[in-house]
Amino acid sequence: MSFTLNRRGFLAGTAGLLAMHPFSVNAAANQAHLRLMETTDLHVHVFPYDYYADKPRDTVGLSRTASLIEGVRAESTNSLLLDNGDFLQGNPMGDYIAYERGMKEGDMHPVITAMNTLGFDASTLGNHEFNYGVSFLMKALAGADFPVVSANVVKEMGADPTADTTLIKPYVILDRMITDGNGDSHPIKIGLIGFVPPQIMNWDRKHLEGNVQARDIVATAKAYVPQMKEEGADIIIALSHSGIGAADVEDGMENAAIPLAAVDGIDAILTGHSHLVFPSSNYADFAGADVDAGTLMGTPAVMGGFWGSHMGLIDLLLERDGSGWRVLSHTSEARPISKRNEDRSITPLVEDFAPVLAAVQQDHEETLAYVRRAVGKTDSALHSYFALVANDPSVQIVSNAQMWYIKDQLAGTEYADLPLLSAAAPFKAGGRGGPEYYTDVPVGDVAIKNVADLYLYPNTVRAVKVTGQEVKDWLERSAGMFNQVEAGSEDAILLNPEFPSYNFDVMDGVTYQIDLSQPSRFDRDGAVINPDANRIVNLEYNGAPLDMAQEFIIATNNYRASGGGSFPGADGSTVIFEGPDTNRDVIVRYIVEQGTVSPAADANWSFAPMDDTTVIFETGPAGATYSEEVPGVAIEEAGSSDTGFALFRITL
Ligand code: MN
Ligand code: MG
Repeated sequence: MSFTLNRRGFLAGTAGLLAMHPFSVNAAANQAHLRLMETTDLHVHVFPYDYYADKPRDTVGLSRTASLIEGVRAESTNSLLLDNGDFLQGNPMGDYIAYERGMKEGDMHPVITAMNTLGFDASTLGNHEFNYGVSFLMKALAGADFPVVSANVVKEMGADPTADTTLIKPYVILDRMITDGNGDSHPIKIGLIGFVPPQIMNWDRKHLEGNVQARDIVATAKAYVPQMKEEGADIIIALSHSGIGAADVEDGMENAAIPLAAVDGIDAILTGHSHLVFPSSNYADFAGADVDAGTLMGTPAVMGGFWGSHMGLIDLLLERDGSGWRVLSHTSEARPISKRNEDRSITPLVEDFAPVLAAVQQDHEETLAYVRRAVGKTDSALHSYFALVANDPSVQIVSNAQMWYIKDQLAGTEYADLPLLSAAAPFKAGGRGGPEYYTDVPVGDVAIKNVADLYLYPNTVRAVKVTGQEVKDWLERSAGMFNQVEAGSEDAILLNPEFPSYNFDVMDGVTYQIDLSQPSRFDRDGAVINPDANRIVNLEYNGAPLDMAQEFIIATNNYRASGGGSFPGADGSTVIFEGPDTNRDVIVRYIVEQGTVSPAADANWSFAPMDDTTVIFETGPAGATYSEEVPGVAIEEAGSSDTGFALFRITL
């Protein structure tokens, strides 16, 4: 290996480092730099804007990533701009096009318009490309000025992958000219092949069943790569909308980047899907990943965050090898568009690239109007003022949407016949957030921006399989929300201020009462402190006492299912469905599909009666409007606290 050192004098004496860094090395006459830029998981984030919150956001937006891209182009002789999938869905702009404006033949999708403006060289499909159906996808792709490849989505299976009829081109071989260190240009054939998790068949079954099938990523790569070589590809780059997971190959694996990187003939791999960054310390402990070298199984790799947060960059130094080219050395990095300061504030690191904004300005304005106007109606006020003391519409709608979604996802599986429950907690329920910190959407129109308020966190949907005993223990864990109340007390303080409302899961699909005379079985962190305590009484399913041995499915979120809050039956091992959809997206879809939602609280839980006993709790003063309609509980006003909360009394 012989490098000509960069002319810039200050680099002299760091030859060892330079040898690691192709772009700071001058290419010789028979060598050329090739810079691969990646965007991934854009999810329609073109503007630096959070449409749910309806305000600008410096951590997202292809208009910002575009400035990094233009910067690299300005200093490079040879570069490619590649997108790694999940561009079509994932924010209200995507929903606006799919649910409201629609895609007719010949229509341009705004994210494709933005990508055309930036001059992408190629893209692949992510799993979310299928969320609005195949026909919607094909109409959107028709507007792309660049090839889109995906090798493992198949319309008709052949004897082996190379004999398949794929939905779109499995790969392309770009015929390009590349400029060497001498300034001379030479032909090069760059092979690009795309992959998506085969789990799309579960996640979008209703769109895909009968239309397409999905093949294993690694097996598909092994079949196509030799064919691409035979067709003259000098180098092959995998656009893999798949995360970095296990090193051991397993049939049908979702996160296949490491075994894929080991496939002979793949020279570089773009990864994504996990919404993380590679190289980064996130992957320091992954077998097969080298975060210092920026490689997976020795192959240069990158993952550029999500929503435009980063530009992935793989620098290759190529050398002419006979008539072809081979990779001599490489580096990879992910460059961010913003940084988080110590006080958690955000500083943007780049400005908008104006042509990208201009190209999508009209769509942006239409999306703003969309998030601000009604997409459906509710016939119950969606407020959370009494979410901690009674069944409540703001929690009920989350459970209704979760059950609607999971029922559909589990149809036709071995879990379809198990009883389906749903757990959901009030997120905005006063506490440290203060007396205004409640959800309050009146009867009538529901706008997209209201949904962010109903579901604060970007969680994704999960389902777990538990026993009746675990259902009961789950509820015992939730009931730590309350202080123990002595029978006969007058105005005892009901809520335990140390217990966060997001750990107060309300369970739908069963009926139960909470006996406040008992101590909590669990402490704040989920450790058992009173093993014999039973706050959950009269727990019934279908009008009969719960069978502790029966199996149940609970619809919930990734936080809870993977052990958040240490709930019994939810330590990660009981997950039977892992969806890519956010709970928030599911609520939007539910409202759009239902037109009018009726999340009237069904009073499926209440406090167990206690003779001559009253308790006091605090809520937002604006809750007074609703205090008489709360089902299953007698509430009266009882003054106010010196911190601005309203006080209410419940007679148990
Ligand atoms: Mn994604
Ligand atoms: Mg994905």
